[in-house]
Amino acid sequence: MKAQGKYGKMIPVQDGWITCPNCRRNKRLKRISPDESAERVGVFCRDCKTEVFLTIHQGQCYESRSQ
Ligand SMILES: [Zn+2]
Repeated sequence: MKAQGKYGKMIPVQDGWITCPNCRRNKRLKRISPDESAERVGVFCRDCKTEVFLTIHQGQCYESRSQ
């Protein structure tokens, strides 16, 4: 089973900030460290009123797949 398979779309991290995948204005959602890892972190964007679940792997961010 490939580890990559559980990751969704990659989300750009700019200057250590995860940006909202739905907003085009690079709305900052969450600050992360370059070596941070976390599973299914829920963040709520106040701009598009959407909750996004993120998987962070070694400072890189992916959209978590729903179930
Ligand atoms: Zn947004």
